[in-house]
Amino acid sequence: MNIVIAGAGAMGSRFGIMLKQAGENVILVDGWQQHIDEINQNGLKANFNGQDVTEVIPAYNQNDLSDVDFSADLVILFTKAMQLDKMLQSLDNMLGKDTIVLCLLNGIGHEDVIKKYVDYDNILLGNTMWTAGMEGPGKVTLFGNGSIDLQNLGEGKEDMAQNIADVLTNADLNARVSQDILTSIYRKACVNGTMNGLCTILDSNMADFGDTSSANTIIKKIVSEFLAVARVENVFLDEEAVIEQINGCFNRETIGLHHPSMYQDLVINNRLTEIDYINGAIVRKGKEYGIETPYCEFLTLLIHSKEEIVRAK
Ligand code: NAD
Repeated sequence: MNIVIAGAGAMGSRFGIMLKQAGENVILVDGWQQHIDEINQNGLKANFNGQDVTEVIPAYNQNDLSDVDFSADLVILFTKAMQLDKMLQSLDNMLGKDTIVLCLLNGIGHEDVIKKYVDYDNILLGNTMWTAGMEGPGKVTLFGNGSIDLQNLGEGKEDMAQNIADVLTNADLNARVSQDILTSIYRKACVNGTMNGLCTILDSNMADFGDTSSANTIIKKIVSEFLAVARVENVFLDEEAVIEQINGCFNRETIGLHHPSMYQDLVINNRLTEIDYINGAIVRKGKEYGIETPYCEFLTLLIHSKEEIVRAK
């Protein structure tokens, strides 16, 4: 299958490597020229569960695709949320009428952007538990296991979704077709919508924040806003179960001592965050649905202030 990985950072590189290893015809499209040059000159390198691997995968700059003759069967979107619209614009002449587009970004509401460029029937929305880290241009770290849930947006497109899940599973990416992808997306957004912004503002790992006497109250306030917005979209989440999942992040034996990805983006790497597509999306949707979302709004504003203070790019 001809597969374009659109956004070949940490996660795009993982998917690119695993799909290439499974025999798929993969290309990478990205906007970071140094990374692209490194991949094209020396291969895409990974520390893959402790082993060094190098895969030769062609990489192209998204701003220079006019000479690229590649008819994509599948595009897997793995930009950061704020890069998505521009990436889809760049891909325009690679998106044929049968090209399937799978979105695995964190955050809420990406379908509203994708459907400007892609036939609704060809869109798959997903959620992944795989992780990956960027070491530097041309090099990623890939540890652990994961899975993917995905679902077709168009009616009657279940076979298409199953076909793509099979391609991903054949590459050991453990994909399954979900019947309620929006529930998984909202559930993960609740985790990201609390841990990411709060640990970034409080300069804390997850376990230390979880130990504070106000953690539970703050988390409940934020989660209640996510759940109220989700309900308007007929997505019903159990508040206690969501909070229990969030509390799982505080476990010092597993992931509690880690800083969430937003912290790494903003505090460590001075990069802009996805806050507008997590808490910020709840604020936008809340305005549309007539729901007050003061906690998400305040957290979004705080993160934007911090982005300005550290001059994030
Ligand atoms: P990433 O930051 O590694 O890559 C995203 C884009 O940013 C790529 O185009 C990449 O080339 C570019 N980029 C990365 N570092 C850069 C640098 N120093 N300078 C210039 N450009 C740079 O993002 P990711 O972690 O692959 O995440 C992609 C999407 O997947 C996001 O929506 C994220 O929330 C989601 N996600 C990530 C993980 C994870 O473990 N990393 C897990 C699940 C979902």
